[in-house]
Amino acid sequence: MLKLYLYGYLNRIQSSRRLEREAQRNIELMWLTRRLAPDFKTIADFRKDNSKGIKNACRTFIDICRKLGMFKDAVVAVDGSKFKAVNNKSKNYTPSKLKFHIERVEKHIQEYLNKLDTADNDEFSESKETISQKIDALKSTLEEFKELKKKVEAAPDKQISETDPDSRLMKVKGMIRQVSYNIQSAVDTKHHLIVAHKVTNETDHGKLDEMGRMSQEALQHKELTVIADKGYYSALDIKNALDEGMDVLVPKTDTSGSDKKGIFNRSMFKYDREKDVYICPANKELTYRMSGIERGMTLKRYFLDTKTCRDCELKPSYTKSSHNRRIARWENENILEDMQKRLIAQPDTMLIRKQTVEHPFGTIKMWMGSTHFLTKRFKNVSTLRRFSHNLWH
Ligand code: SF4
Repeated sequence: MLKLYLYGYLNRIQSSRRLEREAQRNIELMWLTRRLAPDFKTIADFRKDNSKGIKNACRTFIDICRKLGMFKDAVVAVDGSKFKAVNNKSKNYTPSKLKFHIERVEKHIQEYLNKLDTADNDEFSESKETISQKIDALKSTLEEFKELKKKVEAAPDKQISETDPDSRLMKVKGMIRQVSYNIQSAVDTKHHLIVAHKVTNETDHGKLDEMGRMSQEALQHKELTVIADKGYYSALDIKNALDEGMDVLVPKTDTSGSDKKGIFNRSMFKYDREKDVYICPANKELTYRMSGIERGMTLKRYFLDTKTCRDCELKPSYTKSSHNRRIARWENENILEDMQKRLIAQPDTMLIRKQTVEHPFGTIKMWMGSTHFLTKRFKNVSTLRRFSHNLWH
């Protein structure tokens, strides 16, 4: 059955009904399966009931590659890609979508109620009975939406997908959104093989350490280099990965919006480790004043006195506020700064990342064509993502 299944993947035959037909008429398959010709249900059940075994086969394949010494460099690029779920967008609900639907139905009900009032005097109007029936139908739709609203509000992430409850509405390109899964993959940079993968319904942020640990386990190599794009930039996540023995390379992203506003951003304030001060663009020192905890991180705050800033001729370049300049520094910020230095010293890193991770996603998406997953829920969707790429490869 595994042979049949792999053949299907290698030859882009996803559907179990098509595999059933091919097993009966395709000479290659007849040879491969020794004329075993299971029906579509047996094939579908095999996929459904053996996700663990299929994953193990995949793991064994990576073990063989490791034993052959293919992962000696121990460098992986991590990235996520959105794959359309079986769930249609119309069957996914968020608070804003339900608000829109509820207001629309209420408006229609009001319009029909108005029509009901004037029906007797309007010769072109529908009969009162027809209008009442339409109002009743709309009221029942309204009730359904209100029930859904309760469910959405009770959901932890304020979203529900009716067909495949694990899938989520995600941004796939620019403003385009679709109900998808975000497949995380760690790909070795030398052979472009997927060494670890995980099906998620969240963004890339915060997934670096987890994917790194999965890769360490798959490659049995603790000293692993993990490259990722700025979507993975999370200070705590990076620290966790470094603590696990990984060398992490993730470019920093400026989320302050300072550049757009045409004002000085934080990168223009240089930190002096020896003196523990920040040097501002006017060459003045911002000194440490106090610490505080924000989102589980201890932040040290550096200030300049108000008078120095008030009299500074550079001040209008970055703020109209009357406050003096403050900078918050995470107590472990030096590990992030060191990481940026390593990235600058290896300018090809991001190019390697792009070339590495685009390969498997390109293969899988080409293999899938423009379709969506044929299965639902994490367990089933997770089964064969890595297989399809590594087999093709
Ligand atoms: S306004 Fe204050 S922090 Fe900004 S450049 Fe001038 S002295 Fe430095």
